[in-house]
Amino acid sequence: MKLRLIPLGTSAGRPTLTRGASALAVAAEGSWVLCDCGEGAQIAAQRVGLSLSRLDAVLITHLHGDHFNGLPGLLGTLGLEGRQRPLIVAGPAGIADLLQHLARAGSLGTGDMEVRVFEQRGAGGQISLDGFHVESRPLEHRVATFGYRVALPDRPGSLDVQAALSAGVPKGPLLGELKAGRAVTLADGRVVDPGGLIGPSKRGMSMAYVLDTVPCAQAVELGRDVDALVHEATYEHARAELARQRGHSTGVEAARIAADARAGTLVLTHFSPSVIGETVAEEARSIHPSIAAAADLREI
Ligand SMILES: [Zn+2]
Repeated sequence: MKLRLIPLGTSAGRPTLTRGASALAVAAEGSWVLCDCGEGAQIAAQRVGLSLSRLDAVLITHLHGDHFNGLPGLLGTLGLEGRQRPLIVAGPAGIADLLQHLARAGSLGTGDMEVRVFEQRGAGGQISLDGFHVESRPLEHRVATFGYRVALPDRPGSLDVQAALSAGVPKGPLLGELKAGRAVTLADGRVVDPGGLIGPSKRGMSMAYVLDTVPCAQAVELGRDVDALVHEATYEHARAELARQRGHSTGVEAARIAADARAGTLVLTHFSPSVIGETVAEEARSIHPSIAAAADLREI
């Protein structure tokens, strides 16, 4: 099973005519999670054909408006749709209180839908969803901020069919049983164990979502061996000092994180309206071989 990454907003600070505020969909078969929910995320999700009813969880990095302001609107829409299934919302400490305030003021209108809030603290933690494993770790920004790693479960290894046939297993449903990791009993009473006939399990695809932050060790840990690391790159490297002062990174710094983490593809996002994303990506390409500058609604 594959993970699809669909940037829904790739701007920093404020939306522009071409880039929405921070949001990224991580989609598998049948369900998806949303990383950050900047203003307009729910509209962008509908534009790319994502079904809001199949949204499992929203993972908020921090409570700055460009990462959060779309959430009240999204919750309101899910409530109007009559959703009953609970929605998981993860975010830094304070997010539960904030949502309760908005609910009391009548800003949410979630109807019967239960919003299950998981506040992230300290060293972060794990959140188990139906189809995804989620892990959080603290980043270094101007306010409490958490990055997330989203992975599909590992898959069982493949069955050596020739070896199974040689062991006397007939073609048909018994092969399927072995493939699922269960021992089978043959017509002559012999029991064939799947051990030795099945290869090592295959790692599920994974991605990490790292924004907003200065370059930090936890970003490397989140991105360790992932298929895709989505990292903020607010400025070009000439403005590295400004980036550091404001709690942000440059594309070059993000590429160093990706190289240290041995991440597959680096996806740069969260571009200041004053930079050209492709320029930020280009100057980082000498450090990491596979870099994409995220663009709104363009799937990776
Ligand atoms: Zn931001």
